[in-house]
Amino acid sequence: MKSELYLAYLSQIDENRIYSNYGPLNDTFEERILQEFFEGEGAVSTVNNATIGLMLAISQCMRPNGRYALMPSFTFSATPLAAIWCGLEPYFIDIYEDEWSMNVDIVEDTLKKLGDQVAVVVPYATFGTCIDLTYYNELQKKGIPVVVDAAASFGARDKHGHFGKGFLGSIIYSFHATKGFGIGEGGLVYSGDEGIISNVRQAGNFGYKGSRESTLKGLNSKMSEYMAAIGLATLDVFEQKMESRKQIKQWYLEQMNKWNLFEKGWRVQNCSGQIVTQLLSILSPRDEKAHELIDRLDKQGIETRCYFSPPCHRQKQFATSNQSTMAMTECISDRIISLPFWEEMDTMLVSQIVKELANTLHRGG
Ligand SMILES: *Cc1c(COP(=O)(O)O)cnc(C)c1O
Repeated sequence: MKSELYLAYLSQIDENRIYSNYGPLNDTFEERILQEFFEGEGAVSTVNNATIGLMLAISQCMRPNGRYALMPSFTFSATPLAAIWCGLEPYFIDIYEDEWSMNVDIVEDTLKKLGDQVAVVVPYATFGTCIDLTYYNELQKKGIPVVVDAAASFGARDKHGHFGKGFLGSIIYSFHATKGFGIGEGGLVYSGDEGIISNVRQAGNFGYKGSRESTLKGLNSKMSEYMAAIGLATLDVFEQKMESRKQIKQWYLEQMNKWNLFEKGWRVQNCSGQIVTQLLSILSPRDEKAHELIDRLDKQGIETRCYFSPPCHRQKQFATSNQSTMAMTECISDRIISLPFWEEMDTMLVSQIVKELANTLHRGG
């Protein structure tokens, strides 16, 4: 972000002489988000990053005698790490073939099997898609707490409005530089239940409420006024940012069509709602190994990544965790390639990248 866009906000900090502890810029940032994105329904609290937001939300809502946090393996390591910091064991669940989010039928079977041993359910709104929250809202109402990792979903909308609006569990968005709404480091916890946010906020300030006596298992998750300044400036230009991302995804899809990549077995995620594309993860055809393709693209000067490969259940830190069958997770993570994606990309660059992809496939096949 260009510095002239946030200098005016920064100079307010000098005038206020308040630098953190839910200061005036943070208050304005939260209030604008609540009104402009959630139509004033529910409550929000900023956090210094989404990993801490997940930890706070999980530790505030988890069932005290529970042991497991049900979550997909196809997510970023921060999701299981947050559960482990809360003293829980991740329990990995397989995903759907098209949407790449946690398979609700397997969640349901696992809940039946584990009963009260489940402390919390942590779905991930994969790459910013608007997963259907109906089932999870019912779980929350039944007393099984749900914390949604919606790291890349800030700005995403479905037929109910902004993703998560009115949800009675907790939703965590990340404002990390790599996300659609990036401010460097930062995040947000939302809930349709104001009581949850009031607890999260108190826990995020050392467990203090009013006095300086700690009454909750707290930590420090406060967003500084400097981060809130960048946040406010980012809100001012977010419409344009979303527009650029939509355009770039459109160019990618057009080029992939032009090169008949879909007929040749390439796939994109089946997304629900109007999403703010964070990165474009695509699936290579079943007979192509993604890592070989990535090496070949690298030789052409095109840097790609693999979100999320290896999936969590194959990472050392989580290797002893329980899991459902992982057939779909294995099948997707072996084939995933995340293509370059940033807001200043132009149509020429996108067509060059897709052309290389098509050529690479041809040469490799
Ligand atoms: C980015 C990300 C996080 C972590 O967010 P931070 O704000 O960097 O802590 C957690 N989960 C998922 C799925 C993410 O993509």
